[in-house]
Amino acid sequence: MATTRTFSIIKPDATRRNLTGAVTAMLEEAGLRVVASKRIRMTREQAEGFYAVHKERPFFNDLVAFMTSGPVVVQVLEGENAVARNREVMGATNPDAADEGTIRKTYAESIEANSVHGSDSDENAKIEIDFFFKPEEIVG
Ligand code: UDP
Repeated sequence: MATTRTFSIIKPDATRRNLTGAVTAMLEEAGLRVVASKRIRMTREQAEGFYAVHKERPFFNDLVAFMTSGPVVVQVLEGENAVARNREVMGATNPDAADEGTIRKTYAESIEANSVHGSDSDENAKIEIDFFFKPEEIVG
């Protein structure tokens, strides 16, 4: 299997509870390596742009408000089959449906405040990485 990259966000519900390290440890234990990381406060424009695919969904406005409600940590993760590996350790979108031992089962507060984002395909990973990082900010 090839070493690939994915994009992750530690969301405001997790940074608010001081879980940046705990979440990152679970990512690392899953075999992922943090090759870029920065703590930012997303602007409304960034959040709307990042989640543009969900623009017509009923939860869009609440989601943008949530994602701009506090700091987030954006990360590039590297590992074998990184997209799938990250989705596995994240768990299902709704924490009630997430498997035991996943980040969302362990830490998420709700379907919205679900602690982490992870790209859902290699193609989207590249788009999302480019949205937040310059090439020189990624050190593999
Ligand atoms: N979300 C929400 N309500 C929903 C579905 C999703 O607030 O009914 C939020 C949630 O924070 C989720 C994000 O929108 O992580 C993106 O949704 P998606 O379906 O892409 O899930 P993910 O890929 O994050 O598991």
